[in-house]
Amino acid sequence: MPKPKVAFYWCASCGGCEEAVVDLAEGILPVVGAVDIVLWPVALDFKLEDVRSWRPGDVAVAFVNGAVRSAENEMWVKLLREKCSLIVAFGSCAHLGGIPGLANVTTRGEIFANKYARAVTAVNPQGIFPQIDTRLNGYELELPEMWNTVKCLDQVIDVDYYLPGCAPPPDSIAKAVQAILSGHLPPKGSVLAPEKSLCETCPRNDSKPEQFTIETFRRIATATPDPEKCFLAEGFVCLGPATRGGCGERCIRGNMPCRGCFGPTPDALDQGTKFLAALGAVTAGKTQEEVVAAAATFPDPIGTLYRFSLPASLLRRSAVKLDKEAGR
Ligand code: SF4
Ligand code: SF4
Repeated sequence: MPKPKVAFYWCASCGGCEEAVVDLAEGILPVVGAVDIVLWPVALDFKLEDVRSWRPGDVAVAFVNGAVRSAENEMWVKLLREKCSLIVAFGSCAHLGGIPGLANVTTRGEIFANKYARAVTAVNPQGIFPQIDTRLNGYELELPEMWNTVKCLDQVIDVDYYLPGCAPPPDSIAKAVQAILSGHLPPKGSVLAPEKSLCETCPRNDSKPEQFTIETFRRIATATPDPEKCFLAEGFVCLGPATRGGCGERCIRGNMPCRGCFGPTPDALDQGTKFLAALGAVTAGKTQEEVVAAAATFPDPIGTLYRFSLPASLLRRSAVKLDKEAGR
C-alpha cells in the first residue's frame, strides 16, 4: 500500500518551525518511515514544477509554517491548497501572523525606507528600493511583490487544522502526525492543543494569591523573578491567563513569563483584549493618577499584547493610508 504523501512548506518565518520538525530527533524516524515526504524546501530539493504536476488530493497533508506576506507566499499556499487534502497551519506565524505580523504596525514603504535608506549601513544615494521588475543589460529580473499587510494563513486559504506555538513542541507535532495518519481527527478548524489556559497547568499557579494588585510593572531585563512565584502576581507581564495551554509551560520552566505564542484561549475572541481585561482587575492605585501611572509602566503594549497575534486580532493592523501601488 502506498504511503501517505506529506508536504512541509514555509512562508514568512524564521525557520524555527523547521527546527521543531528536526527536534523530533529519533521520533522523526517513525514519521519518515510511515509517510512519503514530497516537499520540504529547507531539507530536500523539490521544484515548483514538481508540485504543479501533482493531482488534486495526491498529497494527504501539507504543514505550512510562516505568515503570508508576499505574492510568492500567496502563490505557494494556493497551490498547496489545490493539491493537498488537508492543510495544517503550523506554528504561530501561520496560525495568527506571529512575530512577522508585528510589521502591521507600519507599512511596506516605511520598512523599505528603514532598511534601504535610513539604516546607518545603507549606501543608497539613488534611493533604489526592491522592484518587482528590473531590466538591466538586456536581462529581466522579477521579484515577488511584498505586501503592505502581513496575513495569517486562513486569511488567504481555507485551513483544516492549527498546530500552535513558536515553535510547536515536538510532542504535539508527533501527536498531530499520528492523528492524521490514523484518521482520528477532531472537527475541521480545531486547534490541536488543549482547551485550558496556560495558568491552569502552570507549576506556579498555586503561588498565585486569590487577590493581588500591581502598582508597577517589572521587566525581565531589569529585575530577576523569583523562580517559585507566579510572574503576574510579582508584577511581570505573563500572558498565561489569556493563552492556550499545551506547550509544556516551556518559558515558565525557564524562569521566563509567557509571551503568548500558543494564541488565545478558546473562549477569547482576541488574546490582547482578554489579557487587558484580566489586568484591569489587578492594576492598582488609590487615585486615578496612580492607576494611570501604574498603566504607564506597562511595557510596549502592542508588542506585548499582540506579540504573536496582531494579524489575527480585532485590530489586524494600524490604521494607515496604504501605499498607492499595493492596496493590501
Ligand atoms: S500568570 Fe503566568 S506564572 Fe502566573 S500562573 Fe499564569 S502562567 Fe503561571
Ligand atoms: S510559555 Fe507561553 S510563550 Fe512560552 S512556549 Fe508556552 S505558550 Fe509559548
